[in-house]
Amino acid sequence: MSTVYDPHSPHADAFIHHEEILDTLAYADRCSKDKNFCLDLVRKAREMKGLTHREASVLLAAEDVDVIEAIYGLAREIKDRIYGQRIVLFAPLYLSNYCINGCVYCPYHAKNHHIPRKKLTQEEIVREVTALQDMGHKRLALETGEDPVNNPIDYVLESIHTIYSIKHKNGAIRRVNVNIAATTVENYRKLKEAGIGTYILFQETYHRKNYEALHPTGPKHDYAYHTEAMDRAMTGGIDDVGIGVLFGLNQYRYDFAGLLMHKEHLEAVFGVGPHTISVPRIRPADDISVSSFPNAISDDLFKKIVAILRITVPYTGIIISTRESARTRKAVLEVGVSQISGASRTSVGGYAEEEAEDSSQFEVNDNRTLDQVINWLLTDGYIPSFCTACYRAGRTGDRFMSLAKTGAISNCCQPNALLTLKEYLMDYASEATRKKGLEVIERELLHIPSLKARGLCEQYLKKIEQGERDFRF
Ligand code: SF4
Ligand code: SF4
Repeated sequence: MSTVYDPHSPHADAFIHHEEILDTLAYADRCSKDKNFCLDLVRKAREMKGLTHREASVLLAAEDVDVIEAIYGLAREIKDRIYGQRIVLFAPLYLSNYCINGCVYCPYHAKNHHIPRKKLTQEEIVREVTALQDMGHKRLALETGEDPVNNPIDYVLESIHTIYSIKHKNGAIRRVNVNIAATTVENYRKLKEAGIGTYILFQETYHRKNYEALHPTGPKHDYAYHTEAMDRAMTGGIDDVGIGVLFGLNQYRYDFAGLLMHKEHLEAVFGVGPHTISVPRIRPADDISVSSFPNAISDDLFKKIVAILRITVPYTGIIISTRESARTRKAVLEVGVSQISGASRTSVGGYAEEEAEDSSQFEVNDNRTLDQVINWLLTDGYIPSFCTACYRAGRTGDRFMSLAKTGAISNCCQPNALLTLKEYLMDYASEATRKKGLEVIERELLHIPSLKARGLCEQYLKKIEQGERDFRF
């Protein structure tokens, strides 16, 4: 490879520079043995200005118990300072599992001829979204395989339009995030115009050679086109992008460094980093066995990764899905995760029809209903939030980040969490969850920093009780 490391470069091989990652890992091996150096890095992270990929990699390599405890302590502290007790909820919606790619870890790969293939019609989307609204969801992540014939961009756009137009009882989907294959600037522009929230695309692994082996066929095989997708999305006007790797595909330290270099690249070129980072782990599915992935990571390591991400990118949301068990979700919520999915179906048509599960993309590890998840969060002291306010108020990209960095966003997040929780309690909750939720709202009102915002929030809460909906800060 002839390129040099350059976070400003538009070329994947320069901003995810293989040699720089190898140097980073060697540097991390050396420095992580120096306990004082590691503790100094934790002290630096306390300023909440983030860490570089090299610094974070040192902490990831650190094995000293005191260093690890210091990381967890700071991760909890930063989580509390920025996110309080709020946890944002969302659900994935699978539109189609037709796919022409050959990803070896996903049962939707083109060579899997026995999995049922399905693409939702607009009428079926109405049924799915109605079922999601009846659970209480307000925020969706759309998922499709890559197939220009079966899932062209016009189908995705039409589906987004359908989803936003469904108003069933008091239900509404107020933010549609989109996770579709890497595409052109023109298509990203169309997605932006359709009113999407975040564009999400996982890199899977940043290791080019392994990436190519794991994606042997189809357009996704093109590492550079995939890795440069967020640049095209941002050029197409999408301010909020979500990145992530599939931990377990490749050596985790390599991908961790690559993930942070990707973030640094977006900051260097567009002035704003990713809105969210997802941390999926490899899971078994139809013809996929985890034993074929020797890089799978343990629960403890997973928690350490989340905690270091929290202190490295304090203002970036961290997302975890129902791939993880309730136990793991509890552990990582404490040290950094700020968004979770709830009551997810990972099959096409899985919300309206139970039997559609035979076409699921991965095995769900947390099978609780949304009401059970909400009740669990409330019991553990969290505030489940269905907030979608920022993008609807135009607080995206660098505008969002500057509000987040001054702490001003707390005057929006906390009241919005309480308002949307109240809507959920009035419209969808069981009696036990409602009782618990109302107590939490009363307690958490006191944690709205601005007295003016607190007063207004109280007024809105009363109006929700009287039947009005959709207030926001
Ligand atoms: Fe297709 Fe995505 Fe599955 Fe790859 S991961 S086979 S692109 S659906
Ligand atoms: Fe997220 Fe904005 Fe709502 Fe806060 S106010 S929870 S940042 S959408």
